[in-house]
Amino acid sequence: MSNATVASKSGAPDPGIGGTPTLEQFELEARSFLDAHASKRPEEAFVWGEGSDSVSLFPERTAEQEATDLATARAWARTVFDAGFGWITGPTEYGGRGLPREYQRTYDTVAADYKTPSMSVYGIGLGMVAPTILDHATEEVKQAYLLRMHRGDIVGCQLFSEPEAGSDLASLQTKALRDGDEWVLNGQKVWTSGAQVSDIGEIICRTDPDLPKHRGLTGFIVDMHAPGVEVRPLRQMTGGASFNEVFFTDVRVPDSHRLGEVNGGWTVALTTLMNERAAIGGGGGGVGLPTSTRLMEVARAMGKAQDPLIRQQVADVFVNERVARYTNLRAMAKIAAGQLPGPEMSLAKLSLTANMVRTYEVLSSILGPALIADTGAWGTYAWTQFLLGVPGMRIAGGSDEVMRNIIGERVLGLPKDPSPK
Ligand SMILES: Cc1cc2nc3c(=O)[nH]c(=O)nc-3n(C[C@H](O)[C@H](O)[C@H](O)COP(=O)(O)OP(=O)(O)OC[C@H]3O[C@@H](n4cnc5c(N)ncnc54)[C@H](O)[C@@H]3O)c2cc1C
Repeated sequence: MSNATVASKSGAPDPGIGGTPTLEQFELEARSFLDAHASKRPEEAFVWGEGSDSVSLFPERTAEQEATDLATARAWARTVFDAGFGWITGPTEYGGRGLPREYQRTYDTVAADYKTPSMSVYGIGLGMVAPTILDHATEEVKQAYLLRMHRGDIVGCQLFSEPEAGSDLASLQTKALRDGDEWVLNGQKVWTSGAQVSDIGEIICRTDPDLPKHRGLTGFIVDMHAPGVEVRPLRQMTGGASFNEVFFTDVRVPDSHRLGEVNGGWTVALTTLMNERAAIGGGGGGVGLPTSTRLMEVARAMGKAQDPLIRQQVADVFVNERVARYTNLRAMAKIAAGQLPGPEMSLAKLSLTANMVRTYEVLSSILGPALIADTGAWGTYAWTQFLLGVPGMRIAGGSDEVMRNIIGERVLGLPKDPSPK
């Protein structure tokens, strides 16, 4: 079913010339769809002590909660897609609606007024894997997956890191050997977020061990349900298990599922990593309200809102929140203008994580021992989840040190970091 056809059934005004609605028509269309399928988000007045006080940066769910959340997200993704809002900017030949980015921004702005399920399970698939498929996959793979990914039928994950290859990704050792029209994969990946619920994965493998390490790699789309794929969850120190080890034993992948050229996997990986940094740098900080607002609420509840040192620390968090946000917007503007953002992604990610560190420093000034000892008081010890999640955020998608190297080399023009190997 074509996206555009369904959209016109939603009771919205007729599209303009050439079937393209004007932005105003599109906004009305989006509102009428959301009015029919979702409820308005209530004006959120933050009331200390009411509702959940969770400020976790990573999901802390049981397998049952995870399955329920996935089913809810999937049902919503299908409803949105079938109404024409699931892939607004995507090429029409793959199920998208072929509209400019401002239409997506309009939809996002309208949708923010409504209460809708969390779509975080699709974050890696849609934010990182799908753009890589669009840039590097064969026509067969684009046709097979892009529509279904955007409709929520398929969850995707990123299979890059290995026990001996993280920051130095090009050292990875998972092998792919060609066998006729197929490749045979053997090896191990680690820290694969969401592998436990994924249907496909973007994997980078070593296809020629004799070439220099960046040049002997190839990317593939692998079926996570194929024989020989084994997913083992890793438990976080906060209790949840959102990451996994993934083992590949004689897993067969058709050559049609190759991404880009044989031994051209480094370019493929860079496409994905660029999108990953954009996604992390554009994040809000994980605590619902802007972090600085939430910190002021904690300060008020603890009777420290007038403390000049605390006020200064919170103001610092506020300023840096804006720095991260605007740096990310600069990177997005470059993408919109058809340019390749580079250091902006690293700057945005680094500003976000540096602010997370500032945040827990302020929290320890405000809460003192209540941050690390559970007194049962609402909104205090719960921040431990945030605090314990920050190291993960500082590593995921390129560690702080690696981001600093990129900024040093590409922005400041400093000499290149000497390679250990
Ligand atoms: C929350 C989270 C989610 C993740 N999700 C995924 C996923 O879905 N898929 C996936 O493939 N991977 C995922 N990862 C893995 C992530 O990409 C790696 O952890 C990251 O690239 C760092 O690699 P490493 O853990 O091997 O650490 P290492 O590379 O071994 O680094 C160890 C330490 O050395 C420092 N270091 C390394 N190189 C340099 C250098 N040149 N200069 C200065 N310091 C350096 C690092 O900053 C770090 O402090 C995830 C990680 C986290 C924390």
